[in-house]
Amino acid sequence: MCSDLNRNLLSPEDVARIFGTFAAANPKPETELQYVNPYTLLVAVVLSAQATDRSVNKATATLFQWARTPEQMLSLGETEIKKHIKSIGLHQSKARNILKLSHMLLSDYAGQVPDTRTALERLPGVGRKTANVVLNVAFGQPTIAVDTHIFRVANRIGLCASKTPLETEKCLERRIPDGYKLHAHHWLILHGRYNCKARKPLCPDCPIRSCCAYPYKEE
Ligand code: SF4
Repeated sequence: MCSDLNRNLLSPEDVARIFGTFAAANPKPETELQYVNPYTLLVAVVLSAQATDRSVNKATATLFQWARTPEQMLSLGETEIKKHIKSIGLHQSKARNILKLSHMLLSDYAGQVPDTRTALERLPGVGRKTANVVLNVAFGQPTIAVDTHIFRVANRIGLCASKTPLETEKCLERRIPDGYKLHAHHWLILHGRYNCKARKPLCPDCPIRSCCAYPYKEE
């Protein structure tokens, strides 16, 4: 049972209970993006900005048949890349960024995806959120990429009281116990995507309902 929830921010004990519940239900959550190596993961995450994982997977199902390395992507070329990803929003600029980052991977990183935030954020089209996903999924680092689901869930249920994604990321880094940090990103995304939805959260069926401090949760 969780403690008295008559306050906005959850206690450390309640935060631990929430992540303990997530861990018991799904010990090893994974990204829903399809990929075969760190490079294809990076490309998929770049494509996923303002797009659903499902739409990205549909596009990469054919794109990755032709290109799974920076060299192969450069050989494929801009026109062909656009054909594969044309159903995804911002596909023109994303195609150009994929080509530019492939160039840079070859010229500066021997064709390998780097495993530091600084190096990743140098790549065209790669911001903090994309870097965090790649560091977490490809390299097992306990980073938390704050997307729209995580921002909403964290601030709705009393994990944080923050105004920007960066504030939320810093807050979650402080408040989530170390043992849960590696998978926290995926647990929160999946919870936001399938349970604590934006318009109508499914409170009656929610596994963390007794620990949630959202004042408008449904009975
Ligand atoms: S009880 Fe409702 S608002 Fe709270 S975490 Fe669950 S779904 Fe979200």
